[in-house]
Amino acid sequence: MKNRKGFTLIELMIVIAIIGILAAMAIPNFKKAREQAREKACYSNIRVLLGAVEMYNMDHSVPLETPDQSKLTGANGYLKSSVECPESGGKYEGSNLSKDGLLSCSIHGTVDGSVAGK
Ligand SMILES: [Zn+2]
Repeated sequence: MKNRKGFTLIELMIVIAIIGILAAMAIPNFKKAREQAREKACYSNIRVLLGAVEMYNMDHSVPLETPDQSKLTGANGYLKSSVECPESGGKYEGSNLSKDGLLSCSIHGTVDGSVAGK
């Protein structure tokens, strides 16, 4: 009688194929979840930045129209530190903040989906 120990090549290949199929289904979901998390963090940063601009505008007669973080951070005391988009290359833009309050990220857009300056 043949002594059979361990797995045959076919059994191992089937297991590896199943693991591969499961990984192929799961990896796009992880990628999407990471992108959504970055987008939410970016929108949170936009809200923090708009709040700081709002506080600056209450204290100054000349309102801040662009998200110039050098006027908000440090000794100015409106932001503890400058906020950055979590996606590399994302920049916060807005040209009419005291009137339309639209601050957008160059990658993620605005919180409500509209575009700054339009
Ligand atoms: Zn962003």
